[in-house]
Amino acid sequence: MPTTPSFNPPTRILMGPGPSGAHPRVLKAMTAPILGHLDPEFLRIMDDCNEMLRQVMRTANRITLATPGTGTSGMEAAVMNLVEPGDKVVVGICGYFGERIAVMAERAGGQVTRVPAPWGSPTDFAGVEAAIRAAGNVKVLGIVHAETSTGAQTPVEPFAKLAKESCALLLVDCVTSLGGVPVTVDAWGADAVYSGTQKCLSAPPGMAPLTMSPRAWDAIKAREVPCNSWYLDLSLLEAYWDERRAYHHTAPISMVYALHEALALVLDEGLERRWARHERNGRALQAGLEAMGLVLHADAGYRLPVLTTVRIPEGVNDAEVRGALLDRNGIEIGGGLGDLRAKVWRIGLMGESSTPGNVLLVLNSLGKVLREQGFSADIRAAVETAAARLGS
Ligand SMILES: *Cc1c(COP(=O)(O)O)cnc(C)c1O
Repeated sequence: MPTTPSFNPPTRILMGPGPSGAHPRVLKAMTAPILGHLDPEFLRIMDDCNEMLRQVMRTANRITLATPGTGTSGMEAAVMNLVEPGDKVVVGICGYFGERIAVMAERAGGQVTRVPAPWGSPTDFAGVEAAIRAAGNVKVLGIVHAETSTGAQTPVEPFAKLAKESCALLLVDCVTSLGGVPVTVDAWGADAVYSGTQKCLSAPPGMAPLTMSPRAWDAIKAREVPCNSWYLDLSLLEAYWDERRAYHHTAPISMVYALHEALALVLDEGLERRWARHERNGRALQAGLEAMGLVLHADAGYRLPVLTTVRIPEGVNDAEVRGALLDRNGIEIGGGLGDLRAKVWRIGLMGESSTPGNVLLVLNSLGKVLREQGFSADIRAAVETAAARLGS
């Protein structure tokens, strides 16, 4: 008789900054038998994943694959492969993840110029433009499309145009946007774009979709020194993911199954419909929170529908509220990160978690906990306002 107990996680409603809830079909795919990583059937689903990723990322880039590891592995692969010692890099930073790109670029030996913007605003275009002019000969311009730490979205097109004019490569973090808000790699003209499986794609954390434009690929091929990361060296990874099938690492087999199923669900729903669903649910939540009497943190006009930051009212205990939501309702929402710690909550509506039911549930549950904390939340107005938005 085995005596060591198995782990049985409680059922949660994941409405934080990630991971999001996974579709039962995705979880079921992960229970399929393991195949060898060079089994012809496994190679076939790797190819299928790459083809589906091209559709979901709206790109024809040949170099489109998923790196092993969470979203950060995609970031590290993009930065480490593009940046060589001495390269000039400009990073637009309007939150926690932009700073992470800058730190990685420094570790790759880049000469990094940071262009800060307030946490809650989009990336500072004029500041980035000035920094690129001042530095001259910039190789990589890095921005974050959807800043999960602040809930703000940066429009990519102006930066793509600027990068092209300046002969720089545009790197865009789409970890939180892919599968939730429009990511159109080729139409943008972005050169290096990565994401993660655990946000709006609604698979477990574990892989990072990544695509490189022909221009970016040329730059990688022209490197004078090898990539500082062996595991994420795209020249090596390419030889595994393309028809050469050269052993590099053992693919995370079950995660590839999960990614395959998650991408199939995205394409079955249709990208436009999926974007519209995230938009509708996110705007309903935001209108509901305001009707409740709360203040949204990110700049109006730049608010992400998939991740909403809302300010914690004066006198309300951050940890107690999040604890109560988790214990009583099984709802996970996120606390603030970095500069916004204890100042905001982060409510995610990503992938499978983006449902009208979850919008109403979180408004109701949060409202009740806030009332216990002495904040006079107008729950009725919140729910009615959100319901009206959801119905329209
Ligand atoms: C979540 C996130 C990451 C990192 O992804 P992990 O899966 O946590 O490694 C990077 N950038 C942004 C914008 C994110 O939201």
